[in-house]
Amino acid sequence: MNSYDAVVIGGGPAGMTAALYLLRAGVKTAMIEKLSPGGQVLMTSEIENYPGFPKGLQGWELADKFANHLEEYDLHRINDEVSGIKVGNPWHTIMVGGEEVRAKAVILATGSRYRKLGVPGEERLLGRGVSYCALCDGNFFRGRDVAVIGGGNSALEEALYLARLVNKVYLIHRRSDFRGQLCYQDKCFTHEKIKIMRNTVVEEIVGETDVEHLALKDVNSGEKSQLTVDGAFIFIGFEPIMDFVSDDIHKERNGILTDIEMRTNVPGIFAAGDIRSKMCRQVASAVGDGATAATAAFSYLEQLDA
Ligand SMILES: Cc1cc2nc3c(=O)[nH]c(=O)nc-3n(C[C@H](O)[C@H](O)[C@H](O)COP(=O)(O)OP(=O)(O)OC[C@H]3O[C@@H](n4cnc5c(N)ncnc54)[C@H](O)[C@@H]3O)c2cc1C
Repeated sequence: MNSYDAVVIGGGPAGMTAALYLLRAGVKTAMIEKLSPGGQVLMTSEIENYPGFPKGLQGWELADKFANHLEEYDLHRINDEVSGIKVGNPWHTIMVGGEEVRAKAVILATGSRYRKLGVPGEERLLGRGVSYCALCDGNFFRGRDVAVIGGGNSALEEALYLARLVNKVYLIHRRSDFRGQLCYQDKCFTHEKIKIMRNTVVEEIVGETDVEHLALKDVNSGEKSQLTVDGAFIFIGFEPIMDFVSDDIHKERNGILTDIEMRTNVPGIFAAGDIRSKMCRQVASAVGDGATAATAAFSYLEQLDA
């Protein structure tokens, strides 16, 4: 079984930052990532709010910059999926791709995934008009009409991105007020291709083989209607990826519980980024969490060796 001082699970902004800080402190580190490094940043069209890039940059560009920063360090990379963790003292065991590795410090940084609407037609028409990624699928809808469902930053950003490609974007939100930043709200509300539909819920996504229309309901009047669209892009939030995390580690629906140093209740296990129970799920906060978790892990390892 391979042994490391520290293992970082997840290669998004939080995981890559944690790995960088650990390596710079001389800690023998492995990073486990099931896909390419970058995490959700790779699904993001443009990032305008990461400090240092006032003109914004493409998600893949930022992911590349993070990944390139690790190139000069001796990071052991494991490209596979973690399926479980056995808590120990001082060694924790991580099940990855049918094998086991062990580490004295583990940083959980597996981020979050999109939340589903849970309406009829959503699963069946996935990839046939239903999408959770405008950057991945927007191009298929050039010149056509689509709906964006949601009221937070992601929904507003993706509506703006799609408006560059498609004929019309219907931005459907179940409340009257949007949660997304005001700068995105202003851009959406004044965009000629975006029609705002407030107080409206999607009850069903309808289509034989592809999305044909949405069955809608006005939450105030209860009035039902149909909206003809070719695509339904759903951005109603995210849920932390923590299925593989055993119940020894305290968590709630919104994520893993940590203190301000990113320590969980189990000595030697830390959490950083979107997997944590917290309010702000952004690249900047993920990076901050990663740096803090690595610093706390380094201090923990020093104390173990003392
Ligand atoms: C469409 C969209 C637009 C966004 N726009 C912005 C924006 O403009 N500005 C901003 O600051 N933030 C934005 N965000 C949010 C930002 O991308 C996230 O907050 C940030 O990426 C979280 O970083 P993370 O490292 O915690 O998790 P993630 O980026 O989710 O990375 C987690 C990594 O862990 C890996 N992983 C998961 N499970 C396992 C497993 N079992 N085994 C191994 N690896 C695993 C995943 O493959 C992934 O690479 C956006 C997100 C989305 C989806």
